[in-house]
Amino acid sequence: MKKHNFSAGPSILPQEVFEKASQAVLEFNNSGLSLLEISHRSKDFVAVMEEARALVLELMGLTGKGYQALFLSGGASMEFVRVPYNFMTKSGKAAYLDTGTWAAAALKEAREFGDTIVVASSKSDNYNYIPKEYTIPADADYFHCTSNNTIFGTQMHSFPATEVPIVCDMSSDIFSRKVDFSKFGMIYAGAQKNMGPAGTTLVVVKEELLGKTGRHIPSILDYKQHIDKESMYNTPSVFAVYTSYLTLQWLKNNGGIEAMEKKNDAKAELLYAEIDRNPLFVGTAKTEDRSKMNITFLLNDASHNEQFDKLWKAAGISGLAGHRSVGGYRASIYNAMPIESVQVLVDVMRELEKKV
Ligand code: PMP
Repeated sequence: MKKHNFSAGPSILPQEVFEKASQAVLEFNNSGLSLLEISHRSKDFVAVMEEARALVLELMGLTGKGYQALFLSGGASMEFVRVPYNFMTKSGKAAYLDTGTWAAAALKEAREFGDTIVVASSKSDNYNYIPKEYTIPADADYFHCTSNNTIFGTQMHSFPATEVPIVCDMSSDIFSRKVDFSKFGMIYAGAQKNMGPAGTTLVVVKEELLGKTGRHIPSILDYKQHIDKESMYNTPSVFAVYTSYLTLQWLKNNGGIEAMEKKNDAKAELLYAEIDRNPLFVGTAKTEDRSKMNITFLLNDASHNEQFDKLWKAAGISGLAGHRSVGGYRASIYNAMPIESVQVLVDVMRELEKKV
């Protein structure tokens, strides 16, 4: 039986994507060859790359607005390094918003390059909220933020108004809600949550911002090189790119980001309503900053954990354990998660209430 997969990532993808990706591994485009044994420079794969890059811009409403979409390797963590390399001038500085483990990891890499300013941090409260009162220095080369904090279950529901280019790690909420993407200088996201399997990272960058740092950038780290080589500077993660392409097509065929947001709102509402109603449970994130992708919660009385764990496992739920730095539970309800699976979790929470 297929499980209800609440894993934070790698995570659930649409069943039809799993099926089409499996088929392509066996035989790609009636070619008599597997997707995994063809050249990345073959006509059929070049078409996949081109279409996937165009589809990203189309879904984000960025077509013709000076942006380039790239599928790179190295995970979102590689962008923690590429970002300062490509955007921080030799004598410049960068501003970072510290909202969680991944934001802090991005900041750590930037510190190697130059003057790094933390405009605000919620670390002292175990990152259970998003700081809002802060100033971004007008002379910063860029401002870096993390739109959704996968571990702590918080999400930025608005972005600062600033002339400074905004670079945003959207790894765990890309394509989940309407955002004015044209407000960003660069967006990046590891594929393995809302887009595809692990192995590729989506980078969407405004081209006019590149080439201004005055520093030598090794080719593999240089976004300009990747743009010039049409995201084929070196062998791309063919399977991850193809599977992401299938998910992007699924997204488009199912009403795009707008339709997805409606479904995600309904799923999050259903689960948060139960957390708030059920006296056994409590959410860990500040209400106004709650994530609609990763829902973190605890049992008020940890002695019920064992009983709860047995119940959800028996109901066919998988991947609900919280991250060690928060404890408790984390339900990741990415785009591909049907509301029926969220209902199964809610029913289990109600069953526990009846039993204790
Ligand atoms: N940023 C965020 C918001 C994440 O959730 C993660 C991974 N969970 C990362 C960055 C790191 O991604 P990767 O493992 O692809 O380097």
